[in-house]
Amino acid sequence: MSRRESMLPRACLCPHCGAKLDASTELGRDDAAPSPGDYSMCLHCGVILIYTPKLDVRRAELDDLAKLPRETLLLLMRAQYAQSLASRLHPPKPEPTN
Ligand SMILES: [Zn+2]
Repeated sequence: MSRRESMLPRACLCPHCGAKLDASTELGRDDAAPSPGDYSMCLHCGVILIYTPKLDVRRAELDDLAKLPRETLLLLMRAQYAQSLASRLHPPKPEPTN
């Protein structure tokens, strides 16, 4: 499985935990650049996100998740579960304050 990462055009904050989000990773595709409407997940808190037209992110609501194909929703749930396990083993370090 290939894993690619790209920097976002500008950093934004997770609307749930406030973590700085400045890169995206795509599993299984060469192009990791997100497009408006793409789903994502905050690696700090696991909340499911959606890219806005300006490539900021907003929290995915239940109505958004209900529109997803079942396989995609299951993939997101598995990613959330993996993130929760990883964050327990390796808690994210706080962002340095200047
Ligand atoms: Zn978060």
